[in-house]
Amino acid sequence: MSDRHFSFEFFPPKTDRGREKLLGVHRELAELNPEFFSVTFGAGGSTRDGTLDTVTAIQERGSAAAPHISCIGSSKSEIDQLLNTYQERGINRLVALRGDMPSGQYAAGDFAYANDLVEHIRTTTGDHFHIEVAAYPEFHPQAKNAEDDLTNFVRKVNAGANSAITQYFYNLDAYLRFVEAAQGRGVEIPIIPGIMPITNYSKLARFSDACGAEIPRWIRKRLEAYGDDSDSIKAFGQDIVTQLCSDLLDNGAPGLHFYTMNQTEPNRAIWQALNLG
Ligand code: FAD
Repeated sequence: MSDRHFSFEFFPPKTDRGREKLLGVHRELAELNPEFFSVTFGAGGSTRDGTLDTVTAIQERGSAAAPHISCIGSSKSEIDQLLNTYQERGINRLVALRGDMPSGQYAAGDFAYANDLVEHIRTTTGDHFHIEVAAYPEFHPQAKNAEDDLTNFVRKVNAGANSAITQYFYNLDAYLRFVEAAQGRGVEIPIIPGIMPITNYSKLARFSDACGAEIPRWIRKRLEAYGDDSDSIKAFGQDIVTQLCSDLLDNGAPGLHFYTMNQTEPNRAIWQALNLG
């Protein structure tokens, strides 16, 4: 695996049973020896404690853990408190985001965009944290246009990000073009593709609409045709996502970040099919 970066993403479980299950998934995926596990942060800090508990549990079990931290709706002092807690717990890696406003909540908070958060983390904590930021090869759904979105991505990098993880995508060219354009703007940090395995068509379609990831027509049509046949959906999904990962690595992607949905399979199946060790 050498200098490539492989990581897994979890979301904080809501119940004791979910927590037990996640620790089992962590145990299984830790055997693959990823660089770190990241844990999402609910809109407006709604999973603040859950994220903290989960990263602490992962760290106690011997893996590096990276909490996501989003700034929208948070005050500077709330963010500082969280950064302090993470430093005290020995966390040295963060995924820094703007996040999305929870429905019904309107206070924007002290930071408007992720670049403001990255700048603040660097100003207050120096080089303590390795900071990941989000990237959008198919562009962020609220972006005015592709060029502005790229400029805004470059802002986050210049504010002090160490690496980036992309939104998931199924169009290889979108990623390759985005990386090329970013590098053309002087970006030198690794831009790690985010990988979403396919196991359930209706959930994937809902997510993709919300986050602006395109499911290419030929994939959509095949998935639709499988109807309720979840074995066929999973087999087809594994086939095309493994191929995507393989093409990405062959084309120089510096690693892979798996959106695991708190499942061992199919992430492990893709990993093993790729012979990542
Ligand atoms: P930003 O980089 O701030 O961009 C948001 C929008 O504003 C873009 O359209 C951008 O073009 C524009 N913009 C950015 N900077 C400026 C500026 N200075 N001036 C004007 N316009 C600007 N969400 C969660 O709630 N919790 C999570 O844990 C989480 N994890 C994620 C992990 C990854 C790897 C990714 C890709 C996304 C994740 N998200 C998460 C979703 C993310 O919070 C949303 O996509 C959110 O809408 C944007 O966050 P951002 O950090 O990319 O924002």
